[in-house]
Amino acid sequence: MDRTGIQPDSALAGAVTELAEVLGPKGIFTQAGDRARYASDQSGLVGDTPVAVLRPASTEEVSRVLAICSRHRIGVVPQGGRTGLSGGACSPQDAVVLSTERMSGVVEVDREAMTLTAWAGTPLEAVQEAARAADLDYPVDIGARGTATIGGTIATNAGGIRVLQHGMTRPNVLGLEAVLADGSVVSRLGKTVKDNSGFDLKQLFIGSEGTLGVVTKAVLQLRRHVPQSALALFALPDHASALVCLTAARQRFGSRIRAFEGMWPDYWNFVCHQTALATAPLAGQHGFYLLVEIEAASTQTEEELEAFFADLFERGVFEDGVLAKSLAEMRALWSVREAVGEVDDDFGHHINFDIGVSPSALGNFCDAADSVLAELPEAVGVLKVGHVGDGNVHLLVAHDGSAAAEERIEAAIYGLLRDWQGAVTAEHGVGRIKARWLGHCRTPEELALMRGLKTQMDPLGILNPSVLFRDTEI
Ligand SMILES: Cc1cc2nc3c(=O)[nH]c(=O)nc-3n(C[C@H](O)[C@H](O)[C@H](O)COP(=O)(O)OP(=O)(O)OC[C@H]3O[C@@H](n4cnc5c(N)ncnc54)[C@H](O)[C@@H]3O)c2cc1C
Repeated sequence: MDRTGIQPDSALAGAVTELAEVLGPKGIFTQAGDRARYASDQSGLVGDTPVAVLRPASTEEVSRVLAICSRHRIGVVPQGGRTGLSGGACSPQDAVVLSTERMSGVVEVDREAMTLTAWAGTPLEAVQEAARAADLDYPVDIGARGTATIGGTIATNAGGIRVLQHGMTRPNVLGLEAVLADGSVVSRLGKTVKDNSGFDLKQLFIGSEGTLGVVTKAVLQLRRHVPQSALALFALPDHASALVCLTAARQRFGSRIRAFEGMWPDYWNFVCHQTALATAPLAGQHGFYLLVEIEAASTQTEEELEAFFADLFERGVFEDGVLAKSLAEMRALWSVREAVGEVDDDFGHHINFDIGVSPSALGNFCDAADSVLAELPEAVGVLKVGHVGDGNVHLLVAHDGSAAAEERIEAAIYGLLRDWQGAVTAEHGVGRIKARWLGHCRTPEELALMRGLKTQMDPLGILNPSVLFRDTEI
């Protein structure tokens, strides 16, 4: 027996032979060079090279390979595009990866029901494009849209920049097909909007990070496509003013607020001045920056946004602002916010916290985090950027790369978070990286119920061992 309790090499080799028989030559990678590419995701955590990479092309193949893995008690890591930021798709020792890359494609777009059915391995962007071709819209949108898959966004309940308007992934999934650890298929791919016939089982798989089943297909709820929008960037004295602005925007624009994104001065100065990652669209120093996108209801939307700006400027809520007048100007404004995806090289070793608190408490929480970090010599830099309307801040804390520094900083921030009754992850998921901190935002009773569900659905604990629960290594 090795560290994970998996059978010795010979038995593992026997299992791989069985898996190869089911999947055929295109469906399995066993060469070291091929396997190494599937070890890790984008979280920075370095995974082990998987024993084999399984590439099933159908639900039936997923079912057969999971039954084999169960029989041999082999850990299975479901993988989509490997863009995850919490180590959920990183391979532990002696596990196989189950990649959905060959289960890709849009199966159907139903314009009347406003639904799209897709295989789990379909890239998010391909789904968005297929919806647009039907003059509809799939509203879940994240920076990694070109590579992240539908299965991955479902497994992580991905959020992104349009949560305020259409919610996270959860409310945008109507039907789901998943395969349990023993190979049984749970399929409910209907387009029923209203369905109170018992438990809504699909919700168990959404956000479960591959620990309860492998998602193979989904029916997604599409929305009306509104191509036009107006975008403005505002400079404010502080986060409290951003909340005033949010309340005013909700009153004036209601559900037409497409994005309401915030940048603290540490982030703004880093991407616009310390590095050349973005060009500053506004001059001077301000206490907070807000990017507001409003869906167009008519050709008057720019004027509406201007009037909104003028009103709040007069009331002293805004200090400065700029309204995008063209698509190129819109891209330029968005590029400041999206530069967070490019800070890694310039910012050096850092922890990327993905914290959720009540939207009304976000500013004060960030002030408290700044104070806590100022006391820690290990924390050598802080950047804050996030989704103001959702109370979600991406708090990036630079350190010297040592495990001790990481430990001290995490303990300080997650300790603070516990006091504020927040979430250790608002959208990226718990994965392997945050599993040890889950108890900071979930009660013992909640954790026991989660473990009970895990045991019921995956009694041998083969699906994504040590993700979400630290004690689920098989
Ligand atoms: C530049 C960038 C920007 C990002 N922006 C956002 C953002 O705004 N909001 C946000 O929420 N996230 C964001 N992310 C994180 C990431 O893109 C999402 O978590 C995404 O949902 C992961 O999709 P994936 O296909 O790459 O999944 P992977 O990384 O392959 O896997 C993620 C998790 O899902 C599980 N999984 C994958 N496929 C399946 C399946 N078919 N069945 C069961 N489990 C499965 C894996 O085991 C793992 O636990 C960003 C990442 C990057 C690199």
